[in-house]
Amino acid sequence: MAETFRIVIVGGGVAGLAMATRLGNNLGRAGQAEITLVDKSFAHVWKPMLHCFAAGTAQNENDRIMFMAQAARHHFEFWPGEITSLDRAARTLTLAPVMSADGQEVLGERHVRYDLILLSIGSRANDFRTPGVSEHCLFIDNLIEAGSFNEKFRMALLRSFADNEELNIAIVGGGATGTQLAAELHKALDFAALYSFGQKPPKLKVTLLEAGPRILPAFPEEVSIAATRQLEAIDVTVRAGAMVSGADENGFLLKDGTRVDAKLRVWAAGVKAPDVTAQFGGLKLTRSGQIEVNPSLQAMDDEFIYAVGDCSFIAASPVAPTAQAARQQAHHLARHIPALVRSGRPIPPWTFQNKGAIVALGSYNGWGTFSGGTVFGGGWLHGLSARLGHMALYRQHQFELYGPWRGAVACIVDWLDRFVRPPIRLD
Ligand SMILES: Cc1cc2nc3c(=O)[nH]c(=O)nc-3n(C[C@H](O)[C@H](O)[C@H](O)COP(=O)(O)OP(=O)(O)OC[C@H]3O[C@@H](n4cnc5c(N)ncnc54)[C@H](O)[C@@H]3O)c2cc1C
Repeated sequence: MAETFRIVIVGGGVAGLAMATRLGNNLGRAGQAEITLVDKSFAHVWKPMLHCFAAGTAQNENDRIMFMAQAARHHFEFWPGEITSLDRAARTLTLAPVMSADGQEVLGERHVRYDLILLSIGSRANDFRTPGVSEHCLFIDNLIEAGSFNEKFRMALLRSFADNEELNIAIVGGGATGTQLAAELHKALDFAALYSFGQKPPKLKVTLLEAGPRILPAFPEEVSIAATRQLEAIDVTVRAGAMVSGADENGFLLKDGTRVDAKLRVWAAGVKAPDVTAQFGGLKLTRSGQIEVNPSLQAMDDEFIYAVGDCSFIAASPVAPTAQAARQQAHHLARHIPALVRSGRPIPPWTFQNKGAIVALGSYNGWGTFSGGTVFGGGWLHGLSARLGHMALYRQHQFELYGPWRGAVACIVDWLDRFVRPPIRLD
């Protein structure tokens, strides 16, 4: 009897979990292919929310989707494990052992065979090998790192409350991640003040360092100007044209010879693929390690490999690494792979449908752009439309993964939760 066709999806983020869910519901349910998802963690979080986890303004269990539960409902298998290499000739990938918190090996190294592999392992911030950054800076590229930053932030805040001492934080990178984090930290301080036994809140001094001429370079200049004004109004120092040349335990050194001292230092600039792509059997990569793919999202030099989202790069028509692009690419493959499996019909080229972009500065303000470049948000409603739009994108993601009923219940539970739990992480 012929073996069932095996599709392995590596990385259950914005793109990967959407592909696993849709292909599971289609090919998996019909028994026409075995769909397997592997991820180095056990739960999915929507990466555009990580700055809220880092600040502690999001902490709800509902914001995590357990891979095993999603797999059980949507006809795919889930295996925990970090991909460490790819043997393209044998069409096999290797997963690192899974270790328990006390260092015991729970699952040994495993080899997983595939007929088709879909790579969606995302990206990390790129420190461009700037001296001192990897040793002295915090990153918020995944839930573990966001949690680790939050622990340090809460402890530093506790001390500043106790001593009424200023807390200095510097963030490198004026893109959506750094800019939104700067605002979210202030929102966290506002909330923390509610639990301070009447103590005067300490001064939070956040400095946002951007090497380019303005923050939010992916948005029109009027959004950058308005966002800079808003950040300055809540006491964030915005320094554009500030090229960081090094980091140490006390802060950052800038190329112009000046320093920015900071107790906590966050690196949120640049994008590169996880280092493991160099172990993918010589696949064609960009300088930042992204897998080069053709417009059908197929690796340039391997017909059995597709790559989507931040870890991929379409040489013929590059798109910025965003959740919007990752989601559209995932939906494209999930729509066309069933015909490829059933009748060998090739995947058609993918084209990006630009739906615009949104940035939300905590509850202070927000802006969005439509695909034509028209800006909305800001104004006397403090960008309510853009902030609601930002929230709606997350709900859309939840609804797509949970389905309408469970998605609606998740919204209601989140809303009710606000009457029970504090709005900020306190433990
Ligand atoms: C704080 C922040 C705010 C953002 N805000 C926005 C925004 O407002 N709008 C927007 O469009 N984009 C935003 N982005 C960018 C957006 O999150 C990414 O573009 C998007 O998540 C990319 O999706 P992906 O599926 O490629 O990767 P991810 O969603 O990052 O998923 C990658 C998955 O791969 C897994 N993985 C990684 N390495 C391995 C390995 N070796 N083995 C196994 N599994 C692995 C990870 O655990 C993860 O589950 C933001 C990013 C950040 C960090």
